[in-house]
Amino acid sequence: MLSDQALTVKACWGRNGLSRLESGLLLAHVLGKPREWLLAHDDHVLSSAELSAFLALDNRRRQGEPMAYLLGQREFMSHCFTVGPDVLIPRPDTELLVEMALVSIAHKAAPAVLDLGTGSGIIAISIAKARPDAQVTATDCSARALAIARTNAKRLNISVQMLLGKWFDPFPTSPLFDLIVSNPPYIHPQDPHLDQGDLRFEPRVALTDEQDGLSAYQSIIFEAASRLKPGGEIWLEHGFDQAQAVVQYLTQAGFTQIKTSQDLAGHPRVSGGSYNSCNS
Ligand code: GLN
Repeated sequence: MLSDQALTVKACWGRNGLSRLESGLLLAHVLGKPREWLLAHDDHVLSSAELSAFLALDNRRRQGEPMAYLLGQREFMSHCFTVGPDVLIPRPDTELLVEMALVSIAHKAAPAVLDLGTGSGIIAISIAKARPDAQVTATDCSARALAIARTNAKRLNISVQMLLGKWFDPFPTSPLFDLIVSNPPYIHPQDPHLDQGDLRFEPRVALTDEQDGLSAYQSIIFEAASRLKPGGEIWLEHGFDQAQAVVQYLTQAGFTQIKTSQDLAGHPRVSGGSYNSCNS
């Protein structure tokens, strides 16, 4: 156990129950230096302010708080995003959603894009980064999440219209979109994962619909049909066992060319399709 006395980087690094990687990241964060700096300066003696800041983070990590929240950031699609307990921690799975979304607008000039339940804004902002000509709008029902999304847009020098409200609520009249994307709350409220690991610290409202894990897809998919331009597409992230239900809603709502893509672990993770008003 580290005590509150003068300690060097070497003494703090990986010697307090955390892995060397995690304690190195926390140390570098507290010292405001890149992690490589630690190697070359492992005899640096931490000031008492640095030491108490490090010990506080180290302690919170040992209580299970996610690294992303302690560091206040996480990388997604090669961009660094600000995160905190008001938003989900970006997952690699969601990069698949962004990739499918980008393919869907690859041949459209200046596409109008809508991201529903944007959280920290990673999806909307990554699309806007990759497609500077896109007109990207994002909604979220949490004002605190939107504040983080706005911070991220500013930090990454991107203009995304951010609107407060649940799903399509901020649009009483219909601007039409070329692409609608969402990573809605899809975990079943009784799923034991909600009480494990990082998920214990994430906003519950972003993880579960408190119903059956599928209600957000119903709300989004059936309304999306009237919010898309002819040939517009919708792409949605979902749970590993939800593809069949999501595909069924897409079919019922009149979407065609429906596809499901698998994440890196081989789970069906993202489904979507195209809407032609003449289909229905
Ligand atoms: N993919 C997240 C998880 O399973 C859940 C995110 C969500 O509900 N949208 O941990």
